[in-house]
Amino acid sequence: MLRTSSSHEEGADRHWSLETVAFEGDGQGNLKSLITRELAWFTRPDGRRGFEAVAGSEKSWSAEMVLIAVGFLGAERKGLAAELALNFDARGNIASQNYASSVPGVFAAGDARRGQSLVVWAIAEGREAAKVVDTYLKEKAVEC
Ligand SMILES: Cc1cc2nc3c(=O)[nH]c(=O)nc-3n(C[C@H](O)[C@H](O)[C@H](O)COP(=O)(O)OP(=O)(O)OC[C@H]3O[C@@H](n4cnc5c(N)ncnc54)[C@H](O)[C@@H]3O)c2cc1C
Repeated sequence: MLRTSSSHEEGADRHWSLETVAFEGDGQGNLKSLITRELAWFTRPDGRRGFEAVAGSEKSWSAEMVLIAVGFLGAERKGLAAELALNFDARGNIASQNYASSVPGVFAAGDARRGQSLVVWAIAEGREAAKVVDTYLKEKAVEC
């Protein structure tokens, strides 16, 4: 959704599909400019969409201050998830059914499961996942 607020109406220029590749200083510890390049969408072999840089599109922007707002590209795949060989869904989150991951006894909740969201969802999912884990452990105890 593209929103235009009163702040934008005061005179901001908005530019999309840019990647910052470098910051340039004035040699005295102050920011002077940033260098960007344009990005274009492409579809990966697994169907997920991604960005790739447009060759020769570098541009220098005069800047005294830069505020960084970064997005969420899915759950971290390296480390624990890779060691446990967890499956991921099409959005890059840990694949789950009722908080149970693809590996028995391993559960997921919050941003890693539902994607970037809100603290209230993380808390609610943590509680729901805890109930599912509790049920799982009770069933395991009965089996023993
Ligand atoms: C910049 C920013 C601003 C935000 N602003 C808001 C806001 O204003 N309001 C709002 O409601 N939400 C906001 N959110 C979203 C909110 O922070 C998240 O939705 C929430 O923190 C998700 O909670 P979580 O417990 O699922 O994951 P996280 O808070 O990411 O917690 C996961 C934890 O697991 C740890 N971890 C990862 N791998 C391992 C491992 N292998 N071993 C041990 N520990 C590990 C991490 O270090 C981390 O502490 C914001 C998010 C960002 C990034």
